[in-house]
Amino acid sequence: MVKTKKRILTLSIIVPIYNEEESIPAFYDKIKSLSFLTPINILLYFIDDGSTDNSVSIIKKITCKDDKVHYVVFSRHFGKEAAIYAGLQHSCGEYVAVIDVDLQDPPELLPKMIKMITEEQWDVIGTRRINRGKKYKIRSFFSNLFYKMINLVSDSQLVPGERDYRVMERKVVDSILLLSESQRFSRGIFSWVGFRTKYLTFENVDRVKGKTSWTFLGLMKYAVDGVVSFSTIPLTFVILIGLLSFSLSVLGAIFVVVRAILDKNSSIAGWASMITILLFISSIQLLSLGVIGKYISAIFLETKQRPIYIKRESK
Ligand code: UDP
Ligand code: MG
Repeated sequence: MVKTKKRILTLSIIVPIYNEEESIPAFYDKIKSLSFLTPINILLYFIDDGSTDNSVSIIKKITCKDDKVHYVVFSRHFGKEAAIYAGLQHSCGEYVAVIDVDLQDPPELLPKMIKMITEEQWDVIGTRRINRGKKYKIRSFFSNLFYKMINLVSDSQLVPGERDYRVMERKVVDSILLLSESQRFSRGIFSWVGFRTKYLTFENVDRVKGKTSWTFLGLMKYAVDGVVSFSTIPLTFVILIGLLSFSLSVLGAIFVVVRAILDKNSSIAGWASMITILLFISSIQLLSLGVIGKYISAIFLETKQRPIYIKRESK
């Protein structure tokens, strides 16, 4: 009787790192302890996004003693989106996962996600964070507003609380890599490529160590760039506002002419309202210019066709 050898599947885990010297050891230990719970062969890819602390030397130390750990170090800070892209490019094996290093994306979910993707018909197992608690009330409010807005204006739908934390089949990764735009909004790209996706939910946990590198303004910019890269509806909206204010101004003009004919002394009385209207119109014009400018800047950055990241070294 010929024995058939069971093929061992491989999962590459991509971990973007930006100044995370405090979180890396705990994360590595956690993943190692979990790797015994699943039959799959787990490879780790630390992508250093230009850290200025000791992250790189910590990663290199781990790589020396564990040949299942690889790294890519960027020449400077390129952002998390670029780190994810680099990770997807370097990954190998049948499955690829993306996870944060700060243990806010619970690694305990991984065995379950691996089991589901290998045994069920799903192409992607994604995750959603629920219950951010009172501490993050304002952030949660803006985050919900962002999801509502982007789902309203764009073709591809995002699930509220959706994280980058996910496990994907190779074919999904290959499709994502086809989208080589330099202004990347990963969650939109994940949704745009489609595939059968199942979402698992998890309760929010606070960071173990270190602090988030996102500022409120940074998140706002991320949201605006997300909308600009996935929808042109704001431009249509600008045209609609233009049409509306034009109609109002025609009505206003008719009103002024009729009033001037009926009451000869009335012309001086409307000064305040005239200034208000003038300010209103010019602010709409500036706003529209801003919206158009955002799209032009997106075109400008895209036409340069610069690489998404530059790597200093890798292993
Ligand atoms: N990160 C990155 N580049 C950045 C910001 C963050 O590679 O410019 C990494 C970071 O090291 C972490 C993950 O992305 O592994 C999520 O970052 P963070 O915890 O700051 O974000 P949040 O949890 O608030 O979404
Ligand atoms: Mg975090």
